[in-house]
Amino acid sequence: MAITTEPPRSTNATGASNIPPPPAPPSAATLEIKNPATGELVGSVPVMSAAEVDQAVARARAASTEWGALSHAERGTELGKFRRAIAESCDDLAELIHRENGKPRLEALVEVLMALSHLDHAIKRAEKAMAPKKVSSGIMANYRATVGYFPLGVIAVIGPWNYPIFTPMGSIAYALAAGNAVVFKPSELTPLIGVRLAEIAARTIATPHVLQVVTGAGATGAALSKSTVDKIAFTGSTATGKRIMAAASERLTPVLLELGGKDAMIVADDADVDKAAEGAVFGALTNAGQACVSIERIYVVDAIYDRFVAKVVDEVRALKVGGDDGHLGAMTSLAQVAIVKDHLQDAVARGAKVLCGGPDAISGNYIQPTVLVDVTQDMKVMKEETFGPVVPIARVSSVDEAVRLSNDSKYGLGSSVWGKHAVRELANRVKAGMTSINSVVAFAGITSLPFGGVGESGFGRIHGDEGIREFTRTKSTAEEVFSLPLAVTSFKLPKNAYERVRGLIQTLYGGGLVARAGDAWRKIF
Ligand code: NAD
Repeated sequence: MAITTEPPRSTNATGASNIPPPPAPPSAATLEIKNPATGELVGSVPVMSAAEVDQAVARARAASTEWGALSHAERGTELGKFRRAIAESCDDLAELIHRENGKPRLEALVEVLMALSHLDHAIKRAEKAMAPKKVSSGIMANYRATVGYFPLGVIAVIGPWNYPIFTPMGSIAYALAAGNAVVFKPSELTPLIGVRLAEIAARTIATPHVLQVVTGAGATGAALSKSTVDKIAFTGSTATGKRIMAAASERLTPVLLELGGKDAMIVADDADVDKAAEGAVFGALTNAGQACVSIERIYVVDAIYDRFVAKVVDEVRALKVGGDDGHLGAMTSLAQVAIVKDHLQDAVARGAKVLCGGPDAISGNYIQPTVLVDVTQDMKVMKEETFGPVVPIARVSSVDEAVRLSNDSKYGLGSSVWGKHAVRELANRVKAGMTSINSVVAFAGITSLPFGGVGESGFGRIHGDEGIREFTRTKSTAEEVFSLPLAVTSFKLPKNAYERVRGLIQTLYGGGLVARAGDAWRKIF
């Protein structure tokens, strides 16, 4: 949606502006949020202009000074109040997510739990993760060398619609705990949960404006990307991630990009077939397949392929779509439904066989979960992010072939491997930021594991200690503890300095006794 960011100006006869622009009035445009399952109006939010975004960033800048100066314990107390208020509102929040996004209430409540576990972890870990580290000073033995971590200032968090509280909280919690203020731009499809989070923060955290929300569509996000924030944490599609990185290059604003995925699952012949099938069905169909770490393609070794496929089909046929007790809810947007339909039609046209569901089993925002076999690597469903309830299963002759096909992707977010013998080695061969072994998507729930991808799935890490330090600036300090006659930081060197430096090189790294002792030491240990 396009918004006008320039206030109206009068011009003189030459066409040049002669009246300074008035302060930007709040935008009159609004976004209406409709329940994808019923079409009912859930609420509306303003479409904020670039000027309004800049004002929010300025308020956050002021807040960051006070917030960043607090001790970890003080920030922990404030964030603890925030955490408790979210927990106390969990039913309301789950209901809002359910109505705004279309997912079942239970799935929405699990999302709130996951968001809280990350907030809790960030609060508890921030002090340790940001503790100054004494590091070796190497040949500068007369120095104390330390690495320190300090808040960056203001973080822009731009989020998607598929997990409207869990996904942004993966950045918001860690950024706040590290001492930054946050300006959050939720998806235009699910902004109400962001507005609610900012309201909870405003009434629980003593420092005002430490978490604000700016609402609108892509143009509001673009304005935030071009603003004076100190870092942009973006979660969304690869296409938007590239646009944000280009916009951020204007100010060299650092970016953290959590983008799309095409997660592969590999099932070796010694896997527990029943458990693997159960995992595949959950991994591919949770959140109606609208998860960045959904299982999007499955490679199964020939020896167990038929048993695996039969079990998957049984499991999928037992699932219910829609209704209060449905396993799969409504798809959040018709635009996403159209992408899924296109991928299914492409697969069928290229020879894939539909075992259940299929391109015709779509009605409005509801898609019946689909199992596809006879799939090949050139199909959209095996190459591009489908982001829907589809389980494509390919037969492979060996684990080596499965690894080759898994790694034949521009994406590299999550993955899953199943088997017994050498299964950890198998996990290490998959080119992805994260791998679950004999499970699916578990890495997202383990708060101390860094989360993020490689390739077109993005870079940077949220969650864990890395997720805290991602929102800090690293400061290296070198402090002289005692003086040496041969100081490399002074021009006042002895006359034979050249010979001494040369002697040092030979002693330490050449064939000298110290170097030989060092090599022997390294061989032993
Ligand atoms: P999207 O890229 O369409 O939108 C994401 C956010 O970016 C929205 O808030 C949107 O308003 C904003 N935006 C759009 N254009 C912008 C611009 N030019 N500048 C700045 N902001 C802009 O993504 P989506 O459809 O909301 O989310 C689905 C995608 O998110 C999928 O690809 C999914 O894989 C990905 N995702 C990734 C992760 C992860 O952790 N890697 C997690 C969840 C979702």
